[in-house]
Amino acid sequence: MRNQNSLLGDLTTMNRIGKLYFRYGTMGSAKTALLLTTAYNFEERQIAYRCMKPVVDTRDNKNVIRSRIGIERECAWIYPDTNLFEMVRGIAADDPDRPEWILVDEAQFLTPEQVDQLAQVVDEYGINVICYGLRTDFRTHLFEGSRRLLEIADTIDEIKSTCTCGRKTIVNARVNSLGEIITEGAVVEIGGNDRYIAVCRRCWRNKRVEQSRKGRLPLDM
Ligand SMILES: [Zn+2]
Repeated sequence: MRNQNSLLGDLTTMNRIGKLYFRYGTMGSAKTALLLTTAYNFEERQIAYRCMKPVVDTRDNKNVIRSRIGIERECAWIYPDTNLFEMVRGIAADDPDRPEWILVDEAQFLTPEQVDQLAQVVDEYGINVICYGLRTDFRTHLFEGSRRLLEIADTIDEIKSTCTCGRKTIVNARVNSLGEIITEGAVVEIGGNDRYIAVCRRCWRNKRVEQSRKGRLPLDM
């Protein structure tokens, strides 16, 4: 017969059921602000959590997740070769600090393997993992990490935002210094002058048709 301690052990570890969440939205849909609000709510309720973020721009040398509204929280950096299951196993072994929740920002930049590792964290430790990220890149194609999340997440939520015309934003358009939409180039461009605007699919097309009429850009789609 089992003693009380091992039973309690079972309840706090093996019987904990976690979930893998993917919350996606376009640029400017306040994903990071939502992540930080969630972190704040955990702090209020004294729930242990960790923040993580893939490293894309190494010029950003401070380990923080920061939103435009000015809040920030410390985060662990995820490198392309980081094994997230091993990383969490290291934290989870340290019982008092064991997080109940893990919040991942910019989850589109995770590798498919890292998404699988997060799923293993959920299934083996009962830790909940919420991944916030973009669904598609500026060419309207799925990011690798987002594809894997759409494939295996328990819960998928869209964080909606509105185009200037009132429709829902779908496309993360890359725009050059002339305000023209660009559909070619590297998926991740560091330190360029281009910026991104979230637009609905209709505005995205109309703007490109207008550009092609001006003879500035061929309409390739
Ligand atoms: Zn629109």
